[in-house]
Amino acid sequence: MDSISFIPGVSSKDLKAIVKHFKAENIYQLKKLAKEKKIRRLKDFNSKTEMKILRGIKLLENPPENMPIGIALEFASLIINELQTWPGISQVLLVGSLRRGVEEVASIDLLIQAESKSLTDYIQKSPFLEPEKIEENKIKTRTLLGIPLFFHLSSRERWGTDCILRTGSDRHVQALLEITGVLPVFSEEEKIYEYLNLPWIAPEIRESGYEVRFAQENLLPELIDLKDIKGDLHIHSKWSDGASTIEEMVLKAVKMGYEYLAITDHSQSLKVAGGLGPQDLVRQWAEMDKLQKKYPQIRLLKGIEVDILSDGSLDLPEEILKESDIVIASIHSHFEMTERDMTRRIIKALENPLVRILAHPTGRVLGKRPGYKVDIKEVIETAACYGKVLEINASPDRLDLRDQHLMLAKTKGVKIAVNTDAHHAEKLEDMAYGVQMARRGWQTKKEIINSWSFEELVSFLKK
Ligand SMILES: [Zn+2]
Ligand SMILES: [Zn+2]
Repeated sequence: MDSISFIPGVSSKDLKAIVKHFKAENIYQLKKLAKEKKIRRLKDFNSKTEMKILRGIKLLENPPENMPIGIALEFASLIINELQTWPGISQVLLVGSLRRGVEEVASIDLLIQAESKSLTDYIQKSPFLEPEKIEENKIKTRTLLGIPLFFHLSSRERWGTDCILRTGSDRHVQALLEITGVLPVFSEEEKIYEYLNLPWIAPEIRESGYEVRFAQENLLPELIDLKDIKGDLHIHSKWSDGASTIEEMVLKAVKMGYEYLAITDHSQSLKVAGGLGPQDLVRQWAEMDKLQKKYPQIRLLKGIEVDILSDGSLDLPEEILKESDIVIASIHSHFEMTERDMTRRIIKALENPLVRILAHPTGRVLGKRPGYKVDIKEVIETAACYGKVLEINASPDRLDLRDQHLMLAKTKGVKIAVNTDAHHAEKLEDMAYGVQMARRGWQTKKEIINSWSFEELVSFLKK
């Protein structure tokens, strides 16, 4: 397997450019370049690129048992794209936990309809895969990522049935089998649900089996969809540690058809991220006024991601926070507190009338750290009590809150914002991951504040 053609978390375009420029021949050379800080000297790249390369190589050298969704999906897409133009392959579809949007996965599963020789040919020629075990209806392969990739073999006639069986979850399939005993054979997935007198059930909620009972009683919610999203309320620019200018972020948001965008750079105590003090914010907002005139098609919100200090107070004076359109609060320091102290710290911040949104509420980074110790139930209850919004951080490295938290928040009436926390204009596209997590948590337009119109949002924020 040739690993310089793929580094998890680094786009193939970037990787090609770097490899070509330095004529790197293997990942050891690439690692050396990143460590010696040579890659940041290239145009379009910075220290973050080097960090991503080092993190990706570390993942390859020491793969975790569960792979973060972003990395697994990137790899799966690479394989799917190749298969789509490979001779003798009629259909290929992502199934398994990745199709359900599980945030960390132990395998990649593809359903495939192919002439068996052309599939084995593909696997043999692929620089990314090595065959491990061939069974009658399944081929297990080893991948560069360290987690296995399974090809589940299907036919045109059985395609729909196999879609359901291979997408899972086991409990979902079990709940269906309780209705029918054995799944009928259909070429389309919808037909099977129809046969069972059920509406089609979105893969993201095929989890506990309860969704089948809800479907039987016609009680499934109308899940939020990516096209419902009208803006992003948490992004960074070059003013703090972002890689793009505010204008570049605005242009990307306009291109995505957004109605509004909040600029929320870090606050002063976060020195490593170039956090902003009150004076900086005044200057930033003046720049935003100019940009607002230049781009009347999108509404800009003057925001800040203010640090919650270790005692639960905020990192900026009240006067300046009062002037901003949206205050997001979050934890970036002193992770090593006891659960009780951390919960108190967050609750104190939520009690502050100036705070509207709590960003990345658990602080986890997938494949890297589990998050700080916090009683998330108490945080959700406090948010419900004070009408505060909790964030689904759409970055595929974070994805907190997760599904169970969201269900709980929903039952308590807590509103949710799906935000990318983008540090680069292209990362505004991460919204898709956040929306998928929202769907896993049964969220609808009613709960997701950034699916609301600008007027609705602003009147809500003012409350
Ligand atoms: Zn943050
Ligand atoms: Zn942020």
